[in-house]
Amino acid sequence: MGDQTDYHDGGCLCGAIRYRARGPFVYSAHCHCHSCQRAVGAGITTWSGVKPENFEVTKGEITVYESSPGMERGFCNKCGSSLTGGGENWDDVAIASATLDNSEAATPTANVYASHKQSWIVLDEDLNTYPKFP
Ligand SMILES: [Zn+2]
Ligand SMILES: [Zn+2]
Repeated sequence: MGDQTDYHDGGCLCGAIRYRARGPFVYSAHCHCHSCQRAVGAGITTWSGVKPENFEVTKGEITVYESSPGMERGFCNKCGSSLTGGGENWDDVAIASATLDNSEAATPTANVYASHKQSWIVLDEDLNTYPKFP
């Protein structure tokens, strides 16, 4: 995990959207849920949370899709990169960790929604694993 004063920049594949997160990550976890699988098109999506006041879009505009009530997924409407998750039911802004310029800045510590896991994904047994969201 980074230092309190760290900036974490990131962005989408095409470069139309850039964002900046400040301060420490509240959590970092691999999500196996069906919703993330469809949204991202991958077996696992790794999310790292920051407080909403510590997140800003510095270039472009994130398009939002409400995938379930209170859950908004942010993406680039040009290249399709998934960037954020959040909404009224969430205290934090979840950043898709792989879109960070330095994806080493957040260290995943858990697997969530392991009950939705694809059979061809092998879990890291050293991490805390939860059937749904802890
Ligand atoms: Zn883009
Ligand atoms: Zn998920």
